[in-house]
Amino acid sequence: VFISFEGGDGAGKSTQMRMLRDHLVTERSVAEDLILTTREPGGTPLGESIRELLLHGEHVEPRAEALLYAADRAHHIATVVRPHLARGGLVLGDRYLDSSVAYQGAGRELSPEEIAGLSLWAVDGLLPHRTILLDVPTSALDERRGPAGKDRLESAGLEFHEAVREEFLELARADPERYAVIDGTRPREEVHAEVLASVAEVLSL
Ligand code: C5P
Repeated sequence: VFISFEGGDGAGKSTQMRMLRDHLVTERSVAEDLILTTREPGGTPLGESIRELLLHGEHVEPRAEALLYAADRAHHIATVVRPHLARGGLVLGDRYLDSSVAYQGAGRELSPEEIAGLSLWAVDGLLPHRTILLDVPTSALDERRGPAGKDRLESAGLEFHEAVREEFLELARADPERYAVIDGTRPREEVHAEVLASVAEVLSL
């Protein structure tokens, strides 16, 4: 089973993924090696190199940027995610193709449809069984992140992040079967409980 976590920078994706993983291991006795937690961009040595280029390198033109994300994802899915799923494992992904549609598509230089098409081609059609969208208003995300440690993309304007948020919500509205939209502003234990309830539908817990 493949579960992806989406949302703005600082929405709590990594924290919620860790809490879910710990819960499954300690409370549900799922074997640790059955659970793969991974992230995009990154997730493979090639992907980490691409991540470095994308987040800390020179300006990359929109089409080139979209292709680099797609290349990272194609390699990651083929070499890490699919083999783990084929072994019957559970994959928890910190971002997946919806992030590309939202981030690369939200700039509006490329359309969300184009990015979705490219992304689906890159992964040969693999969609998650459940996508958890941690929704947090842009102004609250900005406060959470603070001024320190922002990378090139994170320091983009509030307007951009607002467009990203809207695109995520739009994607969720278009595919309510796959998506669970969870209010990420509440205490993390409450968010965790909702994540568990949603995941239970696809994991038969
Ligand atoms: O998930 P994480 O916060 O580590 O993502 C790193 C950066 O990559 C974020 O600033 C996010 O805005 C950006 N990103 C992107 N397009 C993607 C995935 C991530 O612009 N497809």
